[in-house]
Amino acid sequence: MCQTVPTHLDQYFQLACDTTIEGLRKGTGGPFGATLVRNGEVICAVGNTVLEQTDISGHAEMVAVRQGCKKLDTLDLSDCVMYATCEPCPMCVAVMMWAGIKTCYYASSHRDAAAHGFSDQHLRDYLDGSDKSAFDMIHVTQGREDCQAIWDEFTRLSAKP
Ligand SMILES: [Zn+2]
Repeated sequence: MCQTVPTHLDQYFQLACDTTIEGLRKGTGGPFGATLVRNGEVICAVGNTVLEQTDISGHAEMVAVRQGCKKLDTLDLSDCVMYATCEPCPMCVAVMMWAGIKTCYYASSHRDAAAHGFSDQHLRDYLDGSDKSAFDMIHVTQGREDCQAIWDEFTRLSAKP
């Protein structure tokens, strides 16, 4: 879905852009940023921290969700909206959905990112089933009683006294 962001929301993109450019200049991360907003209040504006943290998952939206959860002391960000400088990759879409976020505005597209050497096409191809060659995911169904023991322990601990 494409749409123009109302002018009063420009500040959220601007914050994400400013933080991203600052990070680029410091060498802390790639050219991606995000602002997390709840009821008009900026919860955090962050840039990509992949280089600073040596963390492959340090995408801006991921960092924003982590900071948002910590700052608000909750795992539920369903009352928050994300503003991302670039179309989120599938990992970041997933983490936003895990956190309950229902809306993300983004500016640049994943094709813009790919044109600058940041392609997530392999993830998109894997997830839509068009190319499973990049990753083998193997369901082990025999002899894994140790894993079943986790469910047993979880059930025991979850049982009401
Ligand atoms: Zn991402």
